[in-house]
Amino acid sequence: MSNKPENLTLITDDGLRLDGRRADEIRPMKIEVGVLSRADGSCYLEWGRNKILVGVFGPREAHPRRSQRADSAVIRYRYNMASFSVEDRARPGPSRRSIEISKVSREAFEPVIMAELFPKTAIDIFVEVLQADAGTRTAAINASSIALADAGIPMKGLITSCAFGKVDGKIVLDLNKEEDNYGEADFPVAMTQDGEITLIQMDGNLTPDEIKQGLELVKKGCKEILEIQQAVLRKKFETPVEEVSEET
Ligand code: ADP
Repeated sequence: MSNKPENLTLITDDGLRLDGRRADEIRPMKIEVGVLSRADGSCYLEWGRNKILVGVFGPREAHPRRSQRADSAVIRYRYNMASFSVEDRARPGPSRRSIEISKVSREAFEPVIMAELFPKTAIDIFVEVLQADAGTRTAAINASSIALADAGIPMKGLITSCAFGKVDGKIVLDLNKEEDNYGEADFPVAMTQDGEITLIQMDGNLTPDEIKQGLELVKKGCKEILEIQQAVLRKKFETPVEEVSEET
């Protein structure tokens, strides 16, 4: 969030945003599943101009052994931005931001992953942001959800994630880079299929009414994303039923 140039209009009088979307529309999303042969599960996701690759490994014996838990798997989530993913080169290695995103994203999955089934093991989720254009943490969570399902990790359901924000005084869904830069607030959310919130963050200032309005938009966005995720997984796991030939 930085000061907006005076002549920049992010939303036109007829309610259209710079990329042609209306306030309640998400950016186009494209998902490929099972793209990495050495990972147990993987996903490549494009959301607007974001490009994210996720590899899931495990459950596998946790190392170092002192990191093991006797009664469940440990879930590890590592969010990393490729140095070429942003306009000015991103400094390689962990940063305060990437450590924070990794922590809150792991916590977003903990309520649904049935870790208690796999004591002493680790489930590793590796996120590589190849191209960033605002909303990478939400995009990475959506991709991780698919990669976890692809790895066959037992989950109570999928996690979906989407942000809302305030731009030119209006509440809008799924901010793009210009809106994130010059908007007034950004509010990423992740939720279960039943609508239980597992991640909530806020950058900027919003009134309680604006948050209420934004959460309604996010629910709509997450419902659309869930449908996309389910369609991708259905396509991957659908095995055509072979006709049984009756022998006489
Ligand atoms: P998110 O990507 O989840 O929206 P932020 O709000 O922190 O997370 O970042 C918004 C956008 O700012 C990112 O998607 C990316 O385009 C850009 N950005 C983040 N970190 C850097 C960085 N170190 N250098 C340049 N741009 C960055």
